[in-house]
Amino acid sequence: MPGKILVVGFGPGSIKHFTERAREAIQESDCIIGYKTYVDLVLDVVTHQEIISTGMAEEVSRAQAAVKLAESGRTVAVISSGDAGVYGMAGLVYEVLIEQGWTEKDGIEVEVIPGISAINSCASLLGAPVMHDACTISLSDHLTPWDIIAKRIEAAASADFVIAIYNPKSGRRTRQIVEARNILLQYRSPRTPVGLVKSAYRDRQQVIITTIEDMLDHDIGMLTTIVIGNSTTFLYDNKMITPRGYQRKYTLNAEKQALRPHERLRPENEPWALHGGKEDVESPLDMAMQAVAKLDEKKGVAVLTYQHARTQVESIFELAVSPGVANKKFTPDQLILLAEIAGEKGSIEYTPHHQIVLRIPSSQPEAISRRLREAGFLLSPIGDVLTVKACDFCDGEKKDGIPFAEEIQRRFGGIEMPKELMLGFNGCAMACYGAVKEDIGIVFRRGKFDLFLGAKTVGRTAQAGQPVAEGIEPDKLVPIIEAIIHEYKEKGYPNERFHKFFKRVKTVQGYQYQDETPKVLVEAAPCGD
Ligand code: SAH
Repeated sequence: MPGKILVVGFGPGSIKHFTERAREAIQESDCIIGYKTYVDLVLDVVTHQEIISTGMAEEVSRAQAAVKLAESGRTVAVISSGDAGVYGMAGLVYEVLIEQGWTEKDGIEVEVIPGISAINSCASLLGAPVMHDACTISLSDHLTPWDIIAKRIEAAASADFVIAIYNPKSGRRTRQIVEARNILLQYRSPRTPVGLVKSAYRDRQQVIITTIEDMLDHDIGMLTTIVIGNSTTFLYDNKMITPRGYQRKYTLNAEKQALRPHERLRPENEPWALHGGKEDVESPLDMAMQAVAKLDEKKGVAVLTYQHARTQVESIFELAVSPGVANKKFTPDQLILLAEIAGEKGSIEYTPHHQIVLRIPSSQPEAISRRLREAGFLLSPIGDVLTVKACDFCDGEKKDGIPFAEEIQRRFGGIEMPKELMLGFNGCAMACYGAVKEDIGIVFRRGKFDLFLGAKTVGRTAQAGQPVAEGIEPDKLVPIIEAIIHEYKEKGYPNERFHKFFKRVKTVQGYQYQDETPKVLVEAAPCGD
C-alpha cells in the first residue's frame, strides 16, 4: 500500500487558528516532519505520531525524507507555518516528486492543507491594511537573487500595492530591509503607515504601527512580517486601514452631476462591476454600523458575515474657481468661503491659469457648487477641457471686449477636449496677459479681433501662436472660435495638444500652419537628466 503525504499549513501558531482539516491531518498521519520550532507549536494536537524534526535550512532533505517515508507506506504530515504553499514546504514536496517522475495517477497521494498565512494573521492584528490589491515579497536572498527581489519591490511600490514583507531580516541578513526601505521611499511618502508584527498569535506577539520613515527604529527579526500601506492607507486609533476603493472623482463637466449619491451604487450605474445574485446588498458601512449596534445591545462580540458588499467611499470633488472671466479680484467673503469649504481635509491650490483649484472630500458636490456660485465665483472643471483666460481689461476701463470673452466662456468654457486647451483673450494690443502665448489667442483691437493659433505654451522650444487673422468682425468671432474648437474636438487625437494638432493637420478652418520650428536644436529631455 503506498502511503500519503499531507502538507499541512498550521497558521500563525496558536492552536485556535489551526483549521479543522489541519488538526485531522496531523492525527491521521503516523509521522510528522518539520522544523523543530514548528513541531513544538503543533505538539498539542500530536497523539501517537513519530516526530522527525530537523534544522531550518534542511528543507530539501525534509521533503526528500517525507517522500521516502510515504513510498514505504507511511502517512506523513509535513508541517509548515502559515500556509504551506506560501514560502513553505508544498512546492518543495512537489519538486522532489517531479524529479522522480511522479504523477497523481500512479504516484503516492498528496494533499495540501491550506492555513492562514502571515499576511492575513498579521493584517488582522493591525486593523485592515490589506483591503486592496496586495502582494507578498520575501527578502530572503538565499534562494533568490537580490536583483530580482529589488525589482519586485520597485514594481510593487510603483504600482501602489499594499506589500507584506516576509523574511525581512535575520542575524546575517540585515542590509536587505535597509535597501528595501530605500526603494519604497522612491515611490511612497515617508509618512506611509507601516505595521510590524512579530510572532502573531504566538507567545511573544508584538504589534507596532509606524511609518516607512521610522520603521527601522524598531525591532525587526526573523519572525516579523512587515505590512506596508498603499497611498490611501491611513491610521485611526492605532489601527491601519486601507480603504476598499480609491476615491471616485467628480468633475464639473456637466452642469449637474449625472448621478445623485443614492444612485451611484445601483448596478446599472456600475457597468464595470460583475453583477448577479442578490441585489439588495449591504454596504460595508451598513454592516459595520450593524455590528456596532449589536455590540451596544449585548456588550458582547458582534460577528457579521461580509457577503457581497459594495464600497461607498467619500469622494474627492475637484473644481477650479475664479472671481470671473474679466474680474481678477477676490472679496474677503469669497476667500473666507473657500477656506470654509476646503476645511481641514480639502486643499486649495493656486494654478498658472488664473484659477484656484479646490479638492474637497465630499459626497455632495451639488451643494458645494451652489454655495460657490452664490458667492459670485465662476466654476470650471479641470483636466482636458477648454479654459478661458482673459485679462482684467484694465479693471474694466477697456471693457468693450468683455462681453465677447464672457460669451466664449459661457458657451465653450469647460467642455471636454482631446487635451487641455487654453484660450487667451486680451482686451488691447498690449496683450499683457499673454493671449498670444495660449493655444488659441484673441486680441481685441480697435473694435475688431486678431487671432493667434497654436502657441507651444511650455518647454524650451516654447513659441508664440501664429497670427492667422487680423481684424475679424465682432459678429464673426464667436462662430469662428466655435468652428476651431469643434474641429479640434472632432479630429484631435486623445492627448494631442492643440499646437501638435495644428502642425499635423496643416489647416484649421482655412488657417494655414507655418512651420516655425526653431533653427537651433534644443535637446528634448525636459527634466531629471
Ligand atoms: N508559510 C508561512 C511563511 C514562511 S516564511 C506563511 O504562510 O505565513 C517565514 C516568514 O513568515 C517569517 O520571516 C515572517 O515574516 C512570516 N511569519 C510566519 N509566521 C509568522 C507569525 N506568526 N507572525 C509574524 N510573521 C510570521
